[in-house]
Amino acid sequence: MAASPASLAVMVADCTPVLLASPEGIIASVHCGWRGLVAGVIPAAVEVMRAQGARRIQSAVGPCIGSECYEFGEEDLERVEAAFGGNRPGVRAAAASGKPALDLRRAVGHLLAAEGVETVYRDGRCTACEASRYYSARARGEAERQAGLIWRKG
Ligand SMILES: [Zn+2]
Repeated sequence: MAASPASLAVMVADCTPVLLASPEGIIASVHCGWRGLVAGVIPAAVEVMRAQGARRIQSAVGPCIGSECYEFGEEDLERVEAAFGGNRPGVRAAAASGKPALDLRRAVGHLLAAEGVETVYRDGRCTACEASRYYSARARGEAERQAGLIWRKG
């Protein structure tokens, strides 16, 4: 059966928009904030895609808040590290202020790689630093969101 056209969006402002696709036409969009990462949103999305027939999954990772701007409470940072089995992927960072920070970009990259997902595009820009280009909930308290989009032509 031929896949029908479909499009998916994920709305974010500092969290990471992750778009997944496979040559079989299976697509997904994933909202990757720290709570979702700890809850296993990336392995869950990959599992659903594989259950639908996806074999080789590729990802495009959009802009998110950079660690230099992402001060993070020690208790929550320890929760994230525990979910990753310690600080192996280097999710602990230092913000520009010198306070503890979370490297969300690195956490997402680690989880995608752990699932065997090839990242074909990664936007390294920081949503908090680039006020003229992106919305930031954390840095500027903005209610607006940017969208990550993926579509299948059918
Ligand atoms: Zn920044």
